[in-house]
Formats: sequence, structure tokens, C-alpha cells
Amino acid sequence: MIIVLLGPPGTGKGTQAAAICARFGVPHVSTGDIFRRNLAEGTPLGLKAKGYMETGELVPDALVLDLVADRLKEPDCAGGFLLDGFPRTVPQAEGLDAALAAAGTPVDHVVLLEVPDGTVVERLSGRRVCRSCGAVWHAAHNPPPGDMKCPKCSGQIYQRADDASEAVLNRLKVYARQTGPLVGHYDARGLIRRVDGTRSPAEVERAIGAALA
Ligand code: AMP
Repeated sequence: MIIVLLGPPGTGKGTQAAAICARFGVPHVSTGDIFRRNLAEGTPLGLKAKGYMETGELVPDALVLDLVADRLKEPDCAGGFLLDGFPRTVPQAEGLDAALAAAGTPVDHVVLLEVPDGTVVERLSGRRVCRSCGAVWHAAHNPPPGDMKCPKCSGQIYQRADDASEAVLNRLKVYARQTGPLVGHYDARGLIRRVDGTRSPAEVERAIGAALA
């Protein structure tokens, strides 16, 4: 099963990705996570991506396509995978189409999580994340411990640079301009499964389950 998870930042893609992957037994391929890992480790790839990531701009397509091509060659992707945060531009989608056509395994579903911009800004500007295990809090609705130490793994809880309000607004603009056209790209192939992402995570998970049944 090959699934693409599409939607603006802050729609709960990471949370839902974990549930979908557990259900279908496929690996979670998140380009954002791969870049963040490289950034934390100070690799050449991380250094190249740093400036783009911090301002909410997209990393150049060629860099992303190479990285994804390498990841999809790993043995755990042989039986399918879930793509989260990729593709993000039409050239990336075309690159993916070409690679999958060559392998004879096209995309099965594109789940489009829909959340209004105002909700995205509210969710992301309050988001706090554990640097080590990725656990998530919200400054107002689910505040992290005062010492900013993760109760699950003792990692440091922080605010992603790209979750600062200005960067969030830029990410939404970038999404509308560069990623929005992918809806048409996949709609033309009958692959889009629209899901209302404003509901609770459990309700969204059920709706995705129904859409992929
Ligand atoms: P995300 O966690 O998916 O929001 O990704 C965080 C940041 O990583 C993005 O704002 C981009 O700078 C970069 N990034 C992740 N995936 C891609 C992609 N497919 N194309 C270009 N840049 C990406």
C-alpha cells in the first residue's frame, strides 16, 4: 500500500501518520523528520536545508528528490510506505510518479487533511515538541511541564523555529502556492480522499480508516 498524506502544516499529519502506519504495517517516511534529524546531527544535508527550514521555505526539489529516492530503496519500503510532507511541489509529484511507474507500483491513496488557516496558526504557534521523542504539547491547551523536560524520555521540550508565528504564516503561503496545486494533480487521477482535520485525533483516525477501506 502506498499512501500520500497531504495537507497544510498543523493539520495533524504526524499524529495520523503513526496510526495509518500501524494499521497498514508500512513505514512512515517524513521528509521533515529526515531533514530535522540531519540538522540535529549537523550533516551536510542538514546544513544545506537549515536556512530554508527555519523560515518555512521549501528545500530545493533536487535535494528532496535524491533524499526520498534513497529512502524508498531501503528494504522496509518494499511492501509500501506512507509519505508525509512529500511531495510538496508539482515537480516532486512528477518525480515520484516517474519513480513509482518505473517500479510498477503507483500511489494507492492521497489523504487530504483539511483545516482552516486560522486553526493552523493557533495550533502551530502554541505547539511545543520534545527534541528527542517527538511528543507534542500545546502552550495553552496541553501545557508542557515547567522545566521543559519530557516526562516520557527526559528529552528537551522546545518550540520549532518554524512554529514561530511569522514562519507559520509563511509556511501557509508556501503551502497554498506550491503544494496546493497537487490536489488537482491527484484529483485528476481519482486518488484524493478528503478528511476534515478539525475533529479530535480519534475521529480523524476513524474518518481516514473509512476513506481507505
Ligand atoms: P514539515 O515537518 O513536513 O513541516 O517540514 C519542515 C520543513 O522541512 C519544511 O518547512 C521545509 O523547509 C522542509 N521540507 C520538508 N519536506 C519537504 C519537501 N517535500 N520539499 C521541500 N522542503 C521540505
